Amino acid sequence: MADGPDLTTDLYLGGAWTGGGAGTFTTLNPATGEALAEVAAASTGDVGTAVVAATGALRGEWAATSPSCKGELLNRLADLVERDAEALAAIESLDMGGLAGLGRTMFVPNLVGSLRYYAGWADKINGETIRNDGYLGRPAFAYTTREPVGVIAAIIPWNSPLMILGWKLAPALACGNTVIIKPAEDASLSVLHFAKLVEEAGFPAGVVQVLPGIGGVTGAALAGHPGVHKVSFTGSTAVGRDILRASADTFKRTALELGGKSPQIVFDDADLDGAIAGVAMGIFVNSGQTCAAGSRILVHRAVYSAVLDGLRDAAEAQVVGDPRDPATTMGPLVNAAQRDRVLGYVTKGIGDGAELVAGGDAIGERGFFVRPTVFAGTNDMRIAREEIFGPVGTVVPFDSGDEAIALANDSDYGLAATVWTRDLARAHHVSAELRTGAIGVNGWSPLAAQLPWGGVKASGVGRELGYEGILANTETKTVTVIL
Ligand code: ADP
Repeated sequence: MADGPDLTTDLYLGGAWTGGGAGTFTTLNPATGEALAEVAAASTGDVGTAVVAATGALRGEWAATSPSCKGELLNRLADLVERDAEALAAIESLDMGGLAGLGRTMFVPNLVGSLRYYAGWADKINGETIRNDGYLGRPAFAYTTREPVGVIAAIIPWNSPLMILGWKLAPALACGNTVIIKPAEDASLSVLHFAKLVEEAGFPAGVVQVLPGIGGVTGAALAGHPGVHKVSFTGSTAVGRDILRASADTFKRTALELGGKSPQIVFDDADLDGAIAGVAMGIFVNSGQTCAAGSRILVHRAVYSAVLDGLRDAAEAQVVGDPRDPATTMGPLVNAAQRDRVLGYVTKGIGDGAELVAGGDAIGERGFFVRPTVFAGTNDMRIAREEIFGPVGTVVPFDSGDEAIALANDSDYGLAATVWTRDLARAHHVSAELRTGAIGVNGWSPLAAQLPWGGVKASGVGRELGYEGILANTETKTVTVIL
């Protein structure tokens, strides 16, 4: 990359930069399909070394760092991320194909938001004093403390690595944990640049480490390591199951944010222009590669054809191309396998009898581009049941609110949903009935540090962000003094 940003490709292990015990792996530029860099791959041995460093920091220098100082370090890191925002967004875009503009306006600011929000929490993590019935007739003074969980492995996906690492890292550090980050094979480079900022901010060695590598090697070693106390994972439902199993032997805490098949419900009284624009954004943003992608579009029959027409127009209006070009609205998919998987679902949709309304094919020979795709279908088709992780939406009609709720809940997943209506009573009623972790009314639920995030059913276990992020990153200890 003669004219591109500087790329960091080594492991950040124990406060030093080093090659990987498992050699290297190649990361591609999804917009061209060409090799971008060789990245160090962490071996099982490297994971062991990292756990020793993380444990040392946990019990040593990080434990001795005052809560205020932890907050200052998080704020300093946020300053450095802001300073390098352009470079971080550019590197992430090169590596995983998302729009550089989305990186600048959403992913990097979201990371800064998480760091600053939890910087504020660092000196406010308190327990309680608890009135109680005493012990064998004697009074007792009882209190709780919230202590760090310990060494936390943060295993993250490629679809928005900087944003998602912020959700895991910032609360974990504020609560006094140490963190080993395992980025995804397809998107390690922005995380490695971030590690340089961690070093520059002055975090003690071992508090934050970044170990790129192969999921089944580096990730699996972290999930099975007895010295790791918690695994916080975002990724596919299949790998989430593997991690839960691998964590079982050592009773690790787990937080799993997995896939989705999120419904977007458009009622006949909705502001249709706003709903169509919001629904289109919900399925095409980041080329549909978001766990919360609104891929099941449930539409009241009275507005069904208007919404279908609007979504076809919105799909055809997408400007698909170079993710660095400000005019582009949709970049490539992350790799050839993902493109082929998406095209495979187009074939399945047609095979199951859905009507192809827009898109459905690959674009060009170079890079991994797929045309924004809209199907008219039913909720029992594979395109409406399985997570595609690409720019493919399936529009399904309904006749009543009860039917909309039943269709929305008829899914293995339960991450997010949107409800489009002007009737606020209906919005609250439907929100109460939906089995999902997050619901947006007349818009997507903002992804923000203050707002808890996570799913139910096959979409995961646990919540990140907000005060829930503090609870998820601490253990409660109860101390009772018999007086
Ligand atoms: P996605 O394809 O959505 O990124 P994956 O679940 O394939 O989701 O990958 C998410 C993260 O999990 C990546 O960092 C990947 O390397 C890692 N990973 C993959 N397989 C395993 C495994 N068996 N154990 C632990 N981590 C894994």
